Amino acid sequence: VPNPEPGYLRGLNAPQREAVLTTEGPVLVLAGAGTGKTSALTARLTHLVATRKAWPSEILAVTFTNKAAREMQHRVGRMIGDAVEGMQFLGTFHSVASRMLRRHAELVGLKSNFTILDTDDQLRLLKQIIAAADLDEKRLPARVLGGLIDKWKNRGWTPEKLPEDETFAFADGRGRDLYAAYQARLLALNAADFGDLLLHMLTIFMKHPDVLAQYQQRFKYVLVDEYQDTNVSQYLWLRLLAQERKNICCVGDDDQSIYSWRGAEVANILRFDQDFPGAKVIRLEQNYRSTGHILGAAGGVIAKNSGRLGKELWTEAEGGEKVSVLGVWDGPEEARWIGDEIEKLQRQGHSLNDVAILVRAQFQTREFEDRFISIGLPYKIVGGFRFYERAEIRDALAYFRVVAQPADDLAFERIVNTPKRGLGDKSLQRLHSYARAQNIALTSAAAALTETDELPAAARRALSGVVQDIARWRGQLDDLPHAELARLILEESGYIAMWQADRSAEAAGRLENLQELTRAMEEYENLAAFLDHVALVMENEQSDATAKVTIMTLHAAKGLEFDNVFLVGWEEGVFPSQRSLDEGGNASLEEERRLAYVGITRAKRKAYILHAANRRIYGQWTSSIPSRFVGELPDEHIDVDTTMSGGASLWRAALSDRESFFDVGRGTGRGPGWSRAAAQGGIPKTRGPLLEAKASAVSVGNPGRKDVSVGLRVFHSK
Ligand code: ATP
Ligand code: MG
Repeated sequence: VPNPEPGYLRGLNAPQREAVLTTEGPVLVLAGAGTGKTSALTARLTHLVATRKAWPSEILAVTFTNKAAREMQHRVGRMIGDAVEGMQFLGTFHSVASRMLRRHAELVGLKSNFTILDTDDQLRLLKQIIAAADLDEKRLPARVLGGLIDKWKNRGWTPEKLPEDETFAFADGRGRDLYAAYQARLLALNAADFGDLLLHMLTIFMKHPDVLAQYQQRFKYVLVDEYQDTNVSQYLWLRLLAQERKNICCVGDDDQSIYSWRGAEVANILRFDQDFPGAKVIRLEQNYRSTGHILGAAGGVIAKNSGRLGKELWTEAEGGEKVSVLGVWDGPEEARWIGDEIEKLQRQGHSLNDVAILVRAQFQTREFEDRFISIGLPYKIVGGFRFYERAEIRDALAYFRVVAQPADDLAFERIVNTPKRGLGDKSLQRLHSYARAQNIALTSAAAALTETDELPAAARRALSGVVQDIARWRGQLDDLPHAELARLILEESGYIAMWQADRSAEAAGRLENLQELTRAMEEYENLAAFLDHVALVMENEQSDATAKVTIMTLHAAKGLEFDNVFLVGWEEGVFPSQRSLDEGGNASLEEERRLAYVGITRAKRKAYILHAANRRIYGQWTSSIPSRFVGELPDEHIDVDTTMSGGASLWRAALSDRESFFDVGRGTGRGPGWSRAAAQGGIPKTRGPLLEAKASAVSVGNPGRKDVSVGLRVFHSK
């Protein structure tokens, strides 16, 4: 009797099975959205472990998000039980590389307990470096240098390897020196930035072939998801690790490459065949995620891109609901309408967990948060460092970092006078120059300075208070549970009291956030593990069980799926982004289009696309016209909702008593030209003095193409 088929193979189609069962040799799975690439990769991982081809610890599996890694771990765990705990090298590039680097840190001059800096720390450090080089930060902003250094690291360039012409990209040829100074400073701080995690490993692999050989031996199999978004240094790292055994399986989709701004190179897909000759290329064509209309809409948009590898996609779920396209008056109305629609979905039995709102830029989430809070609709914001980016959280983390990591100057700097302890700028400068002169960490310098009479008595007292506090907390590290110690630190430092005394509107929220922070810490083994998590985590997910609408950026949504997806702000200048329009070239526009493709293909059952006629961007009202991508949606797959666009009256009702709305006429054009023309068409007389007039595209019928009526919104004082 033949063995029954293992569970992880059941239900996979023929090419997916091939991707699972071709365990030996290089394999590239190249396929469109929702065709089961990640599913096949997960089954492959299970297969390797279940058939004992490798121990969990002998497999390197790279996913795009921590969440994806956990999901994979969970699925594999269902098949193989506790053995899944041995998957030490399953995670994002960053998490896997940081784990490796901790083992070999001394080979690049770091200690194994190095700190991982985030962008904010990085910028502060760069500012100091720029100042120390006597350059004008106003003309040569740290942000620009930071961007360059990231780019260089993503390309695998250390300061020594930096090509000559690149060093001229900043401060007339001083780019390399500043980069080198920055690296030296990081080492002195026992710190690494995100780019270093991989770059240091590459350096180690080059200089210490024995270390490389050890990993090449160890990793019998290498698995990579979202391969189209790997950058050069990730690519080099993978290639080195897989070069020996060549059992590497990458899955990806060139149409979903959306990180070229962060150095991703879709060319890595094309190069695969050269680096791994004889690679087996497997194509998956059946989409299991979405309905026919959703696929049709997404396919129509992406078809406008050039230079695609080209893929077929079909689904058995023919038909379904067409994609809804709606024009609304402004951002608040967009949020209002979506809130109502989600409540409708809820009444029909959809869980809020099956609903997502995908934005192009972070600033767009605010409007939804406001609305959902006011109607009591549970939601979560996923992606970025939102929670950990808040000032109070960063302050608290700085306290914890100083305690965990004595050499962490940036953290020390952040808290030394927060809350205010009466340390003036002069004293702080004195502290800095003392630390520099002695080449010691700020904490040590502070301790030493308080022994002298170099500082005014008040400053000396304040500084010595901080130094003693830190020493005491450090002494308690091993005795107290770390979350408890964290609470103690926030109390004893006076940080909690500072917010309690604060009368501003946000103070209460900040105190809540701090509580949330110490609560979250309990989930981690110790302080170091928690701090690592904070530095690495890409998403801020709440674990409690209430169903919630997910609000996230299109970038963060990659690889995920939801029954109902709202794609919002499809307006020129929002999506495609203003930056992509300013750059003018086709490349950035095509990347935006791929982002549109990623967005639409997240939907399983129903997709909605919204655009507003007016948008408040960073406090400024601007009138907007529908995104060109709206115009690219094939007619047969969309339903244009006329209940909104029919109703100039509806918009009128939404106006405040300081605004009026006038129909100016109808146009058929698409460019910004006609909104300007409408404005020139004459502003109707208003009763009060005119404050501001804005022409607005108000679409009737098929937005972006025909029957566009142009309205004028006039603000006047009463
Ligand atoms: P993306 O390009 O968005 O990352 P993907 O190619 O990785 O998508 P998956 O996320 O693996 O696709 O799968 C999409 C959906 O299809 C999932 O809900 C998955 O469970 C389902 N699926 C995958 N393979 C099959 C199959 N053979 N039969 C039925 N459903 C499948
Ligand atoms: Mg996937």
